[in-house]
Amino acid sequence: RVPVICVDGPTASGKGTLAAETANRLGYHYLDSGALYRITALAALRAGLALDTAHEPAIATLAATLPVRFHAGRVLLAGQDVTEAIRTEEAGMNASRVSALPAVRAALVDLQQSFRRLPGLVADGRDMGTVIFPDAPMKVFLTASAARRAERRHKQLISKGNPVTLDALRADLEARDARDSQRAVAPLKPAQDALLLDNSEQSVEDSVAQVLAWWQA
Ligand code: C5P
Repeated sequence: RVPVICVDGPTASGKGTLAAETANRLGYHYLDSGALYRITALAALRAGLALDTAHEPAIATLAATLPVRFHAGRVLLAGQDVTEAIRTEEAGMNASRVSALPAVRAALVDLQQSFRRLPGLVADGRDMGTVIFPDAPMKVFLTASAARRAERRHKQLISKGNPVTLDALRADLEARDARDSQRAVAPLKPAQDALLLDNSEQSVEDSVAQVLAWWQA
């Protein structure tokens, strides 16, 4: 079996950074599953579909045939560069909406599993360890306090010239976490065999070193 390291956790916990860097160190592939939900939401809105249950079948059809490519750090949707468009807070909220639709989640399973290729994969998301790769040999559940996560996201957005207040951001994160944890399908929760990592007081390098130490143990 091709090895998979799952990194799941809430919004802005630093999963993306940790997973990408771990993949980089090991020479493994990297799956950013959140990007697939973000792209699905964008594709649906561009097709004129409201992101609600009434349009669930149509959005699921879009998701199942998503013309997406990841190339040299860029994300292409039908050949068009959407790397920045899917990274806004609004795109995250929209992703959270489509991700609550069971048919959409089901439509993205095969695409996610297709990233499992030699020599290995680091998969980042909410349900990598619980649903998509339940047999993964290592699962990490990454958390950080809401205050810390809001602070980090704030710094990121401000540096990109996005004016947003810390309070608004924290409210947004907490709303998204609540939706992600309370939904009926694939709610955000650690897999039974997940290793818990709280990076509130850790640097990225500390977290990467911890994950690599677990992997090599
Ligand atoms: O991780 P990211 O913030 O890019 O994910 C955007 C949204 O997509 C999350 O808030 C969550 O609702 C959803 N998501 C999911 N399952 C995943 C990855 C993301 O439901 N595996």
